[in-house]
Amino acid sequence: MEAVRWSRQLIPTLREVPQEAEIPSHQLLLRAGLIRKLGAGLYTFLPFGLRALRKVERIVREEMNRAGALEILMPALHPKEIWEQTGRFEVLKDVIFKIRDRQDRALVLGPTHEEIVTDLVAHEVSSYRQLPLNLYQIQMKFRDEIRPRFGLMRAKEFIMKDAYSFDADDAGADESYRKMYDAYQRIFRRCGLRTKIVEADTGAMGGSSSHEFMVLADAGEDGLVECDTCSYAANLERAESVLRAPPAFEGVGRAVEKVSTPGLRSVEEVSGFFQSPPSRLIKTLIYVADGQPVAALVPGNRDVNEIKLRRALGTKTLILADPVTIERVTGAPVGFAGPVGLKIPVHADLKLRGYRGAITGANQADAHIRHVDLERDARVTAYADFSYAMEGDGCPRCPGMLRTRRGIEVGHVFKLGTKYSELLGAMYLGADGQKKPCIMGCYGIGVTRTLQAVIEQSHDDQGIIWPVPVAPAEVEVLLINEQHEASVRAAEKLVAELEEVGLEVLYDERAERPGVKFKDADLLGLPLRINVGERGLAKGAFEVRVRQSGETLMIPMESIVESICAQLAELRRARGAEEQG
Ligand SMILES: [Zn+2]
Repeated sequence: MEAVRWSRQLIPTLREVPQEAEIPSHQLLLRAGLIRKLGAGLYTFLPFGLRALRKVERIVREEMNRAGALEILMPALHPKEIWEQTGRFEVLKDVIFKIRDRQDRALVLGPTHEEIVTDLVAHEVSSYRQLPLNLYQIQMKFRDEIRPRFGLMRAKEFIMKDAYSFDADDAGADESYRKMYDAYQRIFRRCGLRTKIVEADTGAMGGSSSHEFMVLADAGEDGLVECDTCSYAANLERAESVLRAPPAFEGVGRAVEKVSTPGLRSVEEVSGFFQSPPSRLIKTLIYVADGQPVAALVPGNRDVNEIKLRRALGTKTLILADPVTIERVTGAPVGFAGPVGLKIPVHADLKLRGYRGAITGANQADAHIRHVDLERDARVTAYADFSYAMEGDGCPRCPGMLRTRRGIEVGHVFKLGTKYSELLGAMYLGADGQKKPCIMGCYGIGVTRTLQAVIEQSHDDQGIIWPVPVAPAEVEVLLINEQHEASVRAAEKLVAELEEVGLEVLYDERAERPGVKFKDADLLGLPLRINVGERGLAKGAFEVRVRQSGETLMIPMESIVESICAQLAELRRARGAEEQG
């Protein structure tokens, strides 16, 4: 094999931090010469970025095959009609790229493939004997993101592994789900990632159950909570939480009193005026749910989680009311709504149960009321949990406390049920001769996003620290002085020997100053680096630098290959042990 010589490669490292990149992993992808931007949310993979990406793909493929899934490749272009059959052309209309062919037929650039794979199975599967079946692909997806950002994290096109399981019964579907869940744990562990598995909302997919695999990172776009005592963890969209006791406010037991609050509308303004904590306010939001106005109450320091509220109301649509509707149902302009005396259904967040001594709008311009006892003074239609969980809330499963975290979603598993198979006719004939819909699951991994998440989780001020299994190469041989002939001979012999035992080597033989080469080596972050220079050769040794620990070792020339192999094995093992712990 021809050695990978840096001078013959395209690894355009950058000294400066590119302005467009806000988070470390995006900066490092650009600075280490792994990707380049074409346009908003569009990136080219350069050779070393692609090498790392292929390694992530290989791990994903191996584990999917091991779990019994079968690889296929579906088209990226879909007829629009199939998306209309499930109603998702409408649901996903904001993110779907729509195009037309020369005959003016409407096509969609696939954002995901539930419809396409279900259509395939509808044609190819007819008997329970063909089930279970799990089909997957590793393929480019397209989404018209409003705000592409963070490099590969939120791009307009990205590589995804998507798998779809088809089963004859619920027990089988549960087993398929479990297999994928286990495979995902292995995949992320092998990629060197520490992930947190959280309960998630099923959202636009429909279905009954889902989990997300999150990489904890401050730069993550997703919020999540985790219990400090038990294993409960959930996406913020989904998270439940409890208040251990209703807060005690002054004025409890006193009669409601109206207070003039001219022009004070926001929670900050009103709580400032009353010199009370925001939690003492009852925030009243007017929504229109399936065409009917409803009031939703939450404590003043919390926000309404509209996903949870819509589920609690059991309605198809939920939108914030416009100012005209608000004035019609409350009798007051925006900012002065309150539950007392409202004639529309009033839904209160569970955390308001037992609220007394509270402050809320008076349903009258420029006025609020205080000493409100929610049970006593208002007619609450129902209580439900529809506010966002917050740091310090009680855990819904144990006496522990919730903490909030940020995460990057790298994988997602869903139980889909029969929604798609019914709509698209993926039916099978059971042993009993009955025709039934296949029970489906779907399972995604953002492959390009996983690659970036590895860097987000594994870097320092100098650059990337690649875990061995996904590093673009395992070892860098750095020739300190390319004018020194003995060094050149020793380095080339070393490169050949390392390749002989099957290692992937990058050979930096560029005519650059040593300082530049050292900086680039740390930036690119291959697991091990061997410096070949006059000083070491004089002692019959090579200097080996371990990127992760920063250790420098002098290794005798005769045992260098053996030592490098042992250290790589140790790095792989240590990473695995850390994962188990
Ligand atoms: Zn707990």
